[in-house]
Amino acid sequence: MKVAIVGGGAAGMMCVATILEEHKNDVEVFLIEKNVLLGKKVIISGGGRCNVTTGIEDLKLVLSKYPRGSKFLQSAMHRFSPVQVRDWFENHGVPLKCEDDLRVFPVSNDGHDIVGVFEKIFRNSKIDLLFKHNMKNIVKEKNKFIISFKEQKDLEVDKVVMALGGQAYRQTGSTGDGYSILEKLGHKITELAPSLNSFLTQEKWPKELSGLSFEKATIKVKGQKKYQFTGPFLFTHTGVSGPAVFALSSLIAFEKYDKQNPLGILIDVLPDLSLDNLFLELQNLREENLKKTFKNTLHKFLPMSLTEKICENLQISFDKKNVEMSKKDLRIVVEYVKAIPLTVIGRGVGDEFVTAGGVELSEVDPKTMKSKIVPGLYFGGEILNIDGFTGGFNLQASWATGRAVGLALGE
Ligand SMILES: Cc1cc2nc3c(=O)[nH]c(=O)nc-3n(C[C@H](O)[C@H](O)[C@H](O)COP(=O)(O)OP(=O)(O)OC[C@H]3O[C@@H](n4cnc5c(N)ncnc54)[C@H](O)[C@@H]3O)c2cc1C
Repeated sequence: MKVAIVGGGAAGMMCVATILEEHKNDVEVFLIEKNVLLGKKVIISGGGRCNVTTGIEDLKLVLSKYPRGSKFLQSAMHRFSPVQVRDWFENHGVPLKCEDDLRVFPVSNDGHDIVGVFEKIFRNSKIDLLFKHNMKNIVKEKNKFIISFKEQKDLEVDKVVMALGGQAYRQTGSTGDGYSILEKLGHKITELAPSLNSFLTQEKWPKELSGLSFEKATIKVKGQKKYQFTGPFLFTHTGVSGPAVFALSSLIAFEKYDKQNPLGILIDVLPDLSLDNLFLELQNLREENLKKTFKNTLHKFLPMSLTEKICENLQISFDKKNVEMSKKDLRIVVEYVKAIPLTVIGRGVGDEFVTAGGVELSEVDPKTMKSKIVPGLYFGGEILNIDGFTGGFNLQASWATGRAVGLALGE
C-alpha cells in the first residue's frame, strides 16, 4: 500500500513516525513537503523554544482549552494525551521540562531537538522524503489518488493524509493550499479566520507603556460577559498582547472588528482585588497620607508608568494631593483601574499563531481521522477545524491527530 502524507509539519511528522514505529508491514510512505526541511513552524514555535505540549494532566481541562474541536479531539487525546506526548519525546531522547505556567519545553529550549527526533527516525527508515515538492492538486481516480506538483511528475498512491496546516505565518510554508483542493474533492471548509493574535488599538497611549506586562489581568469584551479571559497581559507599541489577549482573540475569532466597526474591551489589571476592596484600601491610604500626592498612593497598587498614564487619562495632575481627592474622585479612579477601556480596531497584521476554521469535523471520523466523504483520505493537524489557546495546545492537537492517523493506517 502506498501512502502519501502531504505536509512535513507537526501532524505529518508524527503520522509518519507512528506508521514507521508501530507498523512494520508493507506500507510504502511518501512524505511530501514543499520546504527543504521538516517542521519549519515547529522549529520557530514558542519563540524557538517549542512549547511542545501542556503540563495539564486532566484531559477534561485540556480539552476545555480548544474553542473549536474539543469534542472531536476526545478520542485522539485519550489515545495520545499530553502525558503520553511527553513520554514519547523523552523516550526518544529529548528531556522535557514543565514550567510554572504548565507549558512544556525541551530542556535545551531548542525546537530543533523536537524536529531532530523525527529526522532521526526517518533517516533510519525506508521512506521517500520528497522535499521541495509543492503539491498543486489531488484527483481521485477509482481507488487511486493522483497527486500533482508545481514542478515534479505526478505521484499515484492508495491513501493520502492531508497535513498541510492552516494559513498562519505563511512564510513557514503553511499557505492554506489544502482548502480549495479539499473543496474540489467534496469536503466542506468552514469559515476561516486568524486566531491567537494581538489587538491593535485606536488609542495611542499603550505605545508609551510598550513592554509593560502583568502576570494576571482580566480582559473582556464590553457588554459581552461570555467573552473574557484572565491571564498574562502586556502593552505593545500598537496596542495589547500576551496570552490573555491571544485567548480572547481566539474566543472572538469570527467576530468582525476594524476601524469602521471597533470593538470595545475593558482591562482589569488588578483582577484579584474587588472594586469595593480597592476602593476601601485606597481610601484608607488616602486618609493616612493626606499630604502626599495621590499619584504616589495609587502607585502602591500599580507600576508608576501606568499610574501616571491613568492620572493623565483622568486629568488628575501629578502633584494633586490626597487631601484634594474626594470620595467621588476616588470612585472614578477605582472604576477606571478595574475596567480600563480600549478600542480595538484590528488584529496584529500577520502575527496570528493559528487559523480558526478548516475541514468540517462532522465529515471526519474522530477515531481514525478518516474522511467520511472520500474513502482513503485522512487528515491531521491544523487543517482541521480545531484550534486551541496558547500553552502547547495546538501542537498537542497536531501530535494527537497525526498519531491517530498513523495508527489507523496500519490497521
Ligand atoms: C510563530 C508561531 C509560534 C507557535 N508556537 C506554538 C507553541 O509554542 N506551541 C503550540 O502548541 N503551538 C504553537 N504554534 C501553533 C503550531 O505551531 C501549529 O498549530 C502546528 O504547527 C500545526 O501543525 P500542522 O502539522 O497541522 O501544520 P504545520 O506545522 O504548519 O505543517 C504543515 C506543513 O505542510 C507544508 N505544506 C503546506 N502546503 C503544502 C503544499 N502545497 N505542498 C507541500 N507541502 C505543503 C508546509 O510547508 C508545512 O511544513 C505556533 C504557531 C506560530 C505561527
